[in-house]
Amino acid sequence: MTDVAIVGAGIIGAALADALVRRGRTVTLLESGRPGGGTSATSFAWINSHKKHALDYHAINLRGVEAWRRIAADLPDTVAFTGTVAIAGDDTHRASLTQRTERLIGLGYPARFATPAEARDRTPLPVADDALVAIFDGEGHAFPGRWIAHLTARVPVRTAAVTGIDGHDVLLADGDRVTADAVVICAGTATERLVASAGGVLPLVPPEVDSISYGYLADVVAPGHGVTGIVKTDRLGLRPGEDGTLLVQALDLDRSADPAGPPPDEVAAEILRRITPLLPRTSPRVSAVRVGHRVIPADARTAAGRIAPGSPVWAIATHSGVTLAPWLAEVIADELCGGAPEPLLAAFRPDRFLTTTTHAPLAAPRTSGDQ
Ligand SMILES: Cc1cc2nc3c(=O)[nH]c(=O)nc-3n(C[C@H](O)[C@H](O)[C@H](O)COP(=O)(O)OP(=O)(O)OC[C@H]3O[C@@H](n4cnc5c(N)ncnc54)[C@H](O)[C@@H]3O)c2cc1C
Repeated sequence: MTDVAIVGAGIIGAALADALVRRGRTVTLLESGRPGGGTSATSFAWINSHKKHALDYHAINLRGVEAWRRIAADLPDTVAFTGTVAIAGDDTHRASLTQRTERLIGLGYPARFATPAEARDRTPLPVADDALVAIFDGEGHAFPGRWIAHLTARVPVRTAAVTGIDGHDVLLADGDRVTADAVVICAGTATERLVASAGGVLPLVPPEVDSISYGYLADVVAPGHGVTGIVKTDRLGLRPGEDGTLLVQALDLDRSADPAGPPPDEVAAEILRRITPLLPRTSPRVSAVRVGHRVIPADARTAAGRIAPGSPVWAIATHSGVTLAPWLAEVIADELCGGAPEPLLAAFRPDRFLTTTTHAPLAAPRTSGDQ
């Protein structure tokens, strides 16, 4: 018998396990693959509350950003708060950047318009004299793999594939079971299936090609690139990756992203064509293009809490899960330890899906700044 069984050692499950152990609870953290090897391994990991239009969703993402600032003080290798520089040249990007910067300024978010000269100081990219520049000083980028490694060094992971949940029992593929006072499903894209096995409902967006579900992430080798923070241009998002690489997104190319097969060669070729003029002093090379599968509840909003009133089974499924993980972990750990329900999560409980059964299709992020 354990206090809490957690299914999934992605960024959400690992953070929750650590938060519970720090509160003195016994935790069994179950993972079928490599800890952090799911969606958390294919994240752009931009720490922000940039385009979170619902104000309650904006509020929880702000808590996530604050929580990462505390982690930065303790574990500086896991996150960098070097801000975001957005550089718009074409009319569409100018319009969207103006609109979102003004909106964020209005909300009191650290956002401001800046000069091309400042963009040149902050990034190695060539910036045209007539470019529109905005800077978001409070934002950062995380290294999820490094943080998960710190967390799982403190909480051992049991390698086991979970086949279903039956009340307090977590059923394992090898026929064994783990019995717990509370079970928390943090299984990323497998959360819908496991919640259903426990009698609950937590629909995720359907895993379809050319939808919000899938996105590319390219690893670019560009020695001496000089990029220190998030940079958003008209057609690329880039940030420092691990080991001196760059992590690059080109959201408009995501239409063909499909985990069923290797990315078409044209995707790497097009990313290379776009990045080469941005880093003229390097000879960039695309070393890999990976496909990420987003974990998004069907209404696009975070789901965190019991799957039904009084149930011993809880679930956490969310997009922006890198930003949100450290804050969600603390508040859900408090609740699991008998604390009062977190008011900011009132509209984010999974049991809303017991009564709301239809959801409008979600638009895929396709333009700079969308994600
Ligand atoms: C392309 C892309 C870009 C993104 N960019 C950002 C961004 O800029 N900022 C941001 O904040 N977020 C971003 N996200 C979202 C963020 O990465 C995710 O919300 C987050 O990683 C989800 O973490 P998780 O722990 O819920 O899921 P996962 O990391 O998938 O972890 C779930 C774990 O559960 C395990 N598991 C599954 N089934 C079982 C089972 N049956 N038994 C045992 N274990 C099981 C899996 O192996 C996995 O390790 C992005 C996502 C993608 C795809």
